[in-house]
Amino acid sequence: MRLPKFEYFEPETLEEALRLLAEWRERVCVLAGGTDVLVKMRNGRLKPGAVIALERISSLNGIGFDLRKGLTIGAGAKLSDVTSHPDILRYYPAIARAARVMANVQVRNMGTIGGNLCNAAPSAENAPPLMALGAVVTAASLEEERRITLDDFFRGPGLTAMKPEEIMTSIFVPTPPANSGASYQRISARCGVDIAAVSVGAMIMIEDTVCREVRIALGAVAPVPMRALSAEAFLKEKVWSEEFLREAARISADESRPISDVRASLEFRKQMVAVMTQRALEEAYGRAIKR
Ligand SMILES: Cc1cc2nc3c(=O)[nH]c(=O)nc-3n(C[C@H](O)[C@H](O)[C@H](O)COP(=O)(O)OP(=O)(O)OC[C@H]3O[C@@H](n4cnc5c(N)ncnc54)[C@H](O)[C@@H]3O)c2cc1C
Repeated sequence: MRLPKFEYFEPETLEEALRLLAEWRERVCVLAGGTDVLVKMRNGRLKPGAVIALERISSLNGIGFDLRKGLTIGAGAKLSDVTSHPDILRYYPAIARAARVMANVQVRNMGTIGGNLCNAAPSAENAPPLMALGAVVTAASLEEERRITLDDFFRGPGLTAMKPEEIMTSIFVPTPPANSGASYQRISARCGVDIAAVSVGAMIMIEDTVCREVRIALGAVAPVPMRALSAEAFLKEKVWSEEFLREAARISADESRPISDVRASLEFRKQMVAVMTQRALEEAYGRAIKR
C-alpha cells in the first residue's frame, strides 16, 4: 500500500524542528525511527500533512554517563545503542535488557528509546525499568524546557503529558543507590518477535537484609505502564524473606488492571504479574547484595 502525500522535513537543529512543529501544529507528525509511525501511516490510522524527521538532529542522539549524577539518554538514541552501551550494561542492566528483548535487530537498529516512550503503548518495553529506576524525561518547546517524571508521563494508550508543540529531548536516570539492584522481566504469547503480554521492572535497595527502597513498575496490564505502589509499600522496611517476596508479588498482581485481548487473558496476565514480579525482585535482590 502506498503512503498518502505529505510534506517531509529533515531539520538539523532542535530549534528548526520546534519552529516547524509550531508552524504545522496538529497537521504534523514527528518521526524518529518510524517503526511505529510508518506502520500507522501505512494502515491509514495516521494521515499527517507533514512529517518532521528528527534523525539528523545529532544533539538528540547521544548517551552520556556521570557516576555522581546519572545517565542521560538522548530521546533519539537507537535501541541498539542502548543495548550495547558499556555504562548502561554495567550500571543499568535492566534498561539494557528491556531494549535487547524487544522487537528484532532491524527494528532495534531503527527504533529509538524516545519513540518507544512517546508512542505510549501500555506495553512500551522501556517504560517499566525506567520507571523503576526513577527516570525523568525532558520535553522542549520554543518557549521552555520542562522535566516530567516518567511516573507522570503516561496518560492513556497513545497519550502522554507532552504538549503538541513539544519534542522529547532526553531521558535522565539517576545513578542507582549503593547496595541496589534492578531487573526487567517480560513474557509474551510467542517466543519470537512479539509485544510483551506482561512486563515488570523492579529496583530494590538493601541495607543489612532490610529492603530500604523498593520500586516496581508493571507494563501491559493497565491502560498505561503503572507503579505497583501497594506491593512497594508492603515490602519497604521488611527484612528480605521468601514469604514477604511472595506476598509482595501477590499484591502486585492484585493491583494490576489487565484486560483480555489477543495476547493473553485477564486471568493469565494477573498470574504472570505475580510470577514476573517475584522474578524481577529476586534478580534485583541478587544484584543488590553483589554490589
Ligand atoms: C516488528 C515490530 C516489532 C516491535 N516490537 C516491539 C516490542 O517488542 N516492544 C515494544 O515496546 N515495541 C515494539 N515495537 C514498536 C516500536 O518499534 C517501538 O515502540 C520503537 O521504540 C518506536 O521508536 P521509533 O523511533 O521507531 O518511533 P516512531 O515510530 O518514529 O515514533 C513513535 C511515536 O513517538 C513520537 N515521537 C518519536 N520521537 C519523539 C520525540 N523525540 N519527541 C516527541 N515525539 C516523538 C512520534 O511522533 C510517534 O507518535 C515493534 C515494532 C515493529 C514494527
